[in-house]
Amino acid sequence: MQFIADRSLGRLSRWLRMLGFDTAYWRGEADRSFLRAAEREGRAALTRRRDVLARQHPGIVLFVESDRLEDQIAEVLRKLNVKPDPEAFFTICLECNISLGPVDREDVRERIPEYVYRTQREFRLCAGCGRVYWPGTHRERAMAMLERILGLDPS
Ligand SMILES: [Zn+2]
Repeated sequence: MQFIADRSLGRLSRWLRMLGFDTAYWRGEADRSFLRAAEREGRAALTRRRDVLARQHPGIVLFVESDRLEDQIAEVLRKLNVKPDPEAFFTICLECNISLGPVDREDVRERIPEYVYRTQREFRLCAGCGRVYWPGTHRERAMAMLERILGLDPS
């Protein structure tokens, strides 16, 4: 399932990307053009604006009730009956929503800290913004949070 989130759900959209979901971020209000974009791209629309529910829309619209990020993630997954695939975690650029590609450590050496170069083996690159991703403390923290939310086995 692919999502489009309105501007009140910026953090949620980054976390959905972390979970491997293609999630577009809409910088404007959740208005008619927001829903048109959702329909055009076949995305489930996520918003915190309740009045959106009153609009006619052929696709999925979810009014996100929770205030806390963790609750929001759980709410979206539960209400839309979506199961994240751990294999897909951390495969999308959190900034651009573009799939990351594998990249050779030597090719990104100049863009990463020396200790990361020395200690990490696996790197992924965003062709959009040029950000380099690798497993690290950020990822461990994120996984811990996801395990709490999703009840995932940490293995
Ligand atoms: Zn990017």
